[in-house]
Amino acid sequence: MSPNGEQVLAQLDAYRAHDAPTHGGRVLSYVYDSGLAELDALAGEAAARVQAVNGLDPTTFPSVALMQADLVTFAREVLRGGPATSGAVTSGGTESIMLAVLAARERWRETHPGDPRTPRVVAPTTAHAAFHKAAHYLGLDVVPVPVDPATGTLPAHRLAQHLGEATALAVASAPAYPHGVLDPVTGIAAAAAERGIPCHVDACVGGFVLPWWEGAEPWDLSVPGVTSISADLHKFGYAPKGASVLLVTDPALDRARYYALTDWPGYPVVNPTVLGSRSAMSLAAAWAVVTHLGTQGYADLTAGVARATAEVREVVDGIAGLRVVGEPTGPLLAVGTDPGVPAHQQVDPHAWAQAVAARGFVLQGQPALTQQDGTALPRTTHLTLTPASLGVLLELTEALVAGADDVRGRAAPRTDDGAGAAEVPDPVALARAAREGGELDLPAVLALVEALPREQSARLLVDFLAAFTAPPTGQG
Ligand SMILES: *Cc1c(COP(=O)(O)O)cnc(C)c1O
Repeated sequence: MSPNGEQVLAQLDAYRAHDAPTHGGRVLSYVYDSGLAELDALAGEAAARVQAVNGLDPTTFPSVALMQADLVTFAREVLRGGPATSGAVTSGGTESIMLAVLAARERWRETHPGDPRTPRVVAPTTAHAAFHKAAHYLGLDVVPVPVDPATGTLPAHRLAQHLGEATALAVASAPAYPHGVLDPVTGIAAAAAERGIPCHVDACVGGFVLPWWEGAEPWDLSVPGVTSISADLHKFGYAPKGASVLLVTDPALDRARYYALTDWPGYPVVNPTVLGSRSAMSLAAAWAVVTHLGTQGYADLTAGVARATAEVREVVDGIAGLRVVGEPTGPLLAVGTDPGVPAHQQVDPHAWAQAVAARGFVLQGQPALTQQDGTALPRTTHLTLTPASLGVLLELTEALVAGADDVRGRAAPRTDDGAGAAEVPDPVALARAAREGGELDLPAVLALVEALPREQSARLLVDFLAAFTAPPTGQG
């Protein structure tokens, strides 16, 4: 006999027991907890009411069009677009970026008929992986422009040097995910505009927190030359996962993200985003959250996030052997080893993250990266603060300090013995061990990513995830 509803849900609860906590500020990436229980309940209720709706066709289900219009209107107001600014609600930052890249590619093809070159996306090396993924899917090349390892960003003229006839899109981040540092949007957008190139501002993480952040340099749609912007509702919009906004200032450019087809024998197809049939649940949840919070709600939540960020920043600045990379704008920080202190006082950021994890807080390790000009971005550990951080601030800062004490002076984990020979583990064995409840040795994995050629480490990740998510083989 198949399990009844109660038994099914009990099984789901058992599965969920393996998950990291989504609430309470103990995971400093992935989740953006407003700390407001009523907001979660409202989102869930709104999602349930549209559970059976198909977002494929807003003429059959006009609620979809109405909720989208409300969200685009709200985003256009806080991101300071003009009356001609239009846009879409997508499933997330990756999809928003993919559509911005698609529109830019279509525009480039239109303005460069017969040009045999591959169109390019020119972006600082800190630009999100989603641009590489979009370029991979859509047949463009990414030109990664090195940033200054000390600041995590670059002067606009350095990016401008790479803008040319083959450039379909220039990118600036507000802020970039790895270090939380704002790119010089004004300079990059001006340089792009001068050459007739669209400029996308990736505000996926910053879009619903920077509007209320004090002291941010100009970064939004009011900056001349910015042609599109992405802002994730499922990050600092505090909506459940599955919602982001793409705004485009030029209606013709915005049309270029659509796909329409009339030469097949089925229904006339017109899709504004990547999916066909799609759930309206995340749209309704995001709509409810945004409508309930309004600009004042976001301003209040941001004030709390800013307080938590300032406090954590001050504590990290006071930890011997660690330092915050660059000058972050917003609630994201990258913490690296302070090279200015003797080796016995230095703290490896990945060993630190592991020690802090043992004290109940999950930070995110980021590998070192050698850029195209040979300069190296150091390995760091990433922290994103949220409103929920406020509730655990004392515990968190104590864990950050004590975790550093645990590992200060300890040599960084290396799989590279210095002669370039990396010990490569079997990804399937790693996956099996992790699935059986063993701890994944993240510092070792990150050290491996640093040591191996990129192609090889990427393949390793694929083999690992495929094995981690595969159905059990039954062979134990
Ligand atoms: C999260 C993020 C993205 C990608 O968004 P997803 O919602 O994870 O697809 C893109 N850019 C930045 C700066 C981000 O923080």
